[in-house]
Amino acid sequence: MINSIKLWIQNFYLIHIKKPHCASCGQVAILQNDDGSWICEQCSQVMSDLGGEQDDRA
Ligand SMILES: [Zn+2]
Repeated sequence: MINSIKLWIQNFYLIHIKKPHCASCGQVAILQNDDGSWICEQCSQVMSDLGGEQDDRA
């Protein structure tokens, strides 16, 4: 239970106070990449979709 509260507070802090911006679209992001840049949920989905198909298109 405490973990979910912690997560909720973390998300609240990110979305309403820290407001990191997505490196791709500039919207408020809640996911952080390994390199420290931020990305929103939408773009991370698009990126993972692209990553799976890139080899076929090239
Ligand atoms: Zn984005």
